[in-house]
Amino acid sequence: MHNSVKDFLETLFSENALNRLPDTHGSGRIFDSPLIGVSGGADPIFQRYKEVVGPEHLTPYEIWSQSNPEMSGTESGSLRVLSIIFPYTNRIREASKTAKTMPAEVYSVGRNFANEFMGDVLKKSVSFFQKKGYNAMAGMQSPVFQILTKEEPLQLYSVWSERHIAFAAGLGTFSLHEGFISEVGCNIRVTSVITDAPLEISPRKSDDPYANCLFYTTGKCKKCVERCPADALSDKGHDKLKCYLYLKTIEQEMKPRLSGLLKPHQRVVNGERNTSFPLGCAFCQFNVPCTSKIPVKERDEDNRD
Ligand code: SF4
Ligand code: SF4
Repeated sequence: MHNSVKDFLETLFSENALNRLPDTHGSGRIFDSPLIGVSGGADPIFQRYKEVVGPEHLTPYEIWSQSNPEMSGTESGSLRVLSIIFPYTNRIREASKTAKTMPAEVYSVGRNFANEFMGDVLKKSVSFFQKKGYNAMAGMQSPVFQILTKEEPLQLYSVWSERHIAFAAGLGTFSLHEGFISEVGCNIRVTSVITDAPLEISPRKSDDPYANCLFYTTGKCKKCVERCPADALSDKGHDKLKCYLYLKTIEQEMKPRLSGLLKPHQRVVNGERNTSFPLGCAFCQFNVPCTSKIPVKERDEDNRD
């Protein structure tokens, strides 16, 4: 089944009109072909996320049964979580290399349009499994999904963290810039589908949550720190408040000239529904060793020569 899911998603990414920039920005693809990985619903790592992310973080069985009470009889061990990585195209990555204080417009428009495409991929993936006779749901589209905030220091986290789901599925690791470094780099988006279809579980190459980041493996690099215009990154990690305030500055500056083009995005924060027009920032993900690959792997291969 792994191959049929992969083929289905590759076709969707190449043919879906929502994976396209508008004509004003060249009409090319926003995302290249996806990467996929699968974790098992009973993996103990999901209990660990209640300590690492927050006690409100849900296990696959919890989000499954709370979203669909009629399916609460499903065994957690028979659930599978399909994690899907969306890599931004080289065109967007190249255009963003030289951006210094405001993101390249093509990235911001792609970042804004991406949410609608990702939502469509989730709906169509759920329906793909249902047509094959299985049950399926998307955590991000569940009525119980929400984003929570904690003050001092500011923390923003969801009850279903897609980066943690991707780690569980062996797709990569966390990093100094608090992104997620996968085989196709850190300049990506991530989402997931839960199903009772018997997908093969992907092995995790390492349980080290930072194995793919040069800073955590060699003590060097920190290119993402140099690239951040908001001084939001340091050896100590990511200052979410500075990052959030810089995102707001970008929105204030860019929204007026893109206003006829942008798509609204709705989400529930602390129990209240709000609408935003996300434009992204991500200087820390462009023109750095981990933009498009796992830099640690490249270093290890060089050392073998
Ligand atoms: S730029 Fe370097 S230090 Fe920063 S996340 Fe990437 S590999 Fe880690
Ligand atoms: S998203 Fe922007 S402000 Fe936030 S850490 Fe990255 S470069 Fe800095």
